[in-house]
Amino acid sequence: MRSGAEARRGPYGVGVAVTVEMLLERDGPACAWCGRAPWRRDLTLEHLVPRSRGGHLTPENVVLACGRCNRRRGARPADAYVRELLRDGVAVDVEGLRTALRRLLDADRRVHREAGQRQLERLRSVDAPVRP
Ligand SMILES: [Zn+2]
Repeated sequence: MRSGAEARRGPYGVGVAVTVEMLLERDGPACAWCGRAPWRRDLTLEHLVPRSRGGHLTPENVVLACGRCNRRRGARPADAYVRELLRDGVAVDVEGLRTALRRLLDADRRVHREAGQRQLERLRSVDAPVRP
């Protein structure tokens, strides 16, 4: 995924241009996966439903991720990558991720609604780390 300041309009004729600025305003500067707040130029647009799985560049399907997480996650389902991060001792904000995935449930596109539902269900068995 490109990390440019301004994402183009999606290749699917979607009317809303999704930008890093828009997501900074909505979600804050932290990576949706590892919680780090990297330099602005290292924040990327991360598709919750990957493009290779039919996901589109629309606001409800995109969160901010650091470049490292974006690359490492690849096109895996959210719970698979979250488990990997938890194994590595990363304090994933699982609740924040659930909030992001719930946005997909109201999406216009069925592929987003269905994939969001599936990922939320799979995430249900992932325990959030206990924070001190
Ligand atoms: Zn990250």
